[in-house]
Amino acid sequence: MNKSPRATVLVAEDEESLREALKLNLELEGYEVTTTDTGPGVLKTVKGEYFDLIILDIMLPEMDGITVCETIRMQHNDVPILFLSARNSGADRVEGLKKGGDDYLTKPFNLEELLLRVSKLITKNKRMKEPQSIGDTYEFDGYRIDFSAHECVDKSGKVQELSKKEAALLKLLIEHEGEVVSREQILQIVWGYNVYPTTRTIDNFILNFRKYFERDSRNPVHFHSIRGIGYKFTAK
Ligand code: CA
Repeated sequence: MNKSPRATVLVAEDEESLREALKLNLELEGYEVTTTDTGPGVLKTVKGEYFDLIILDIMLPEMDGITVCETIRMQHNDVPILFLSARNSGADRVEGLKKGGDDYLTKPFNLEELLLRVSKLITKNKRMKEPQSIGDTYEFDGYRIDFSAHECVDKSGKVQELSKKEAALLKLLIEHEGEVVSREQILQIVWGYNVYPTTRTIDNFILNFRKYFERDSRNPVHFHSIRGIGYKFTAK
């Protein structure tokens, strides 16, 4: 099966036996699994961590799965969501998909089918997320960035050295030119899975980029922070 070895799945299910069974079977398939049993638990968990998929029960305590999904989408998080529901109602299914869910299974479900859908959703999302491939150098607004040499040169030939992390973050933003890159994506790709710096650390990098590349760093036209969501680069 075409699947990443360390894909991460968040299981939100309040029925303990089902939650444990899902965790066990997903782990046997090679996934890294985190679990929660409430709606607010999901929102709290996705704030600080990147997931490749959420398996989201609709009938959850404190906040139902559909509201949870809607909230996640409002935060511009496009993690694939597979709904689980005991209610075999067409309306429920439509509501779930309308609020931003990607797929839907009715309990009791066949485990093989669930695992197959999980794998498909993760693979599809990975393929979509594949960044626009850029080479070792990139030019915009009179600057020429050399990612492997960790430097950029402006029109006058002045060289600005970049740290390894600066070069990595710059490349990530440029690969997603015109799109918001979430804080979670940045943390996962630039800082690696378990080392989480504060939001301020990323902000400081963005401030540096403005110093290097913006004519007026207080009115940036290339490096934008979107409060509470992430960062965006526009070449213009
Ligand atoms: Ca439930």
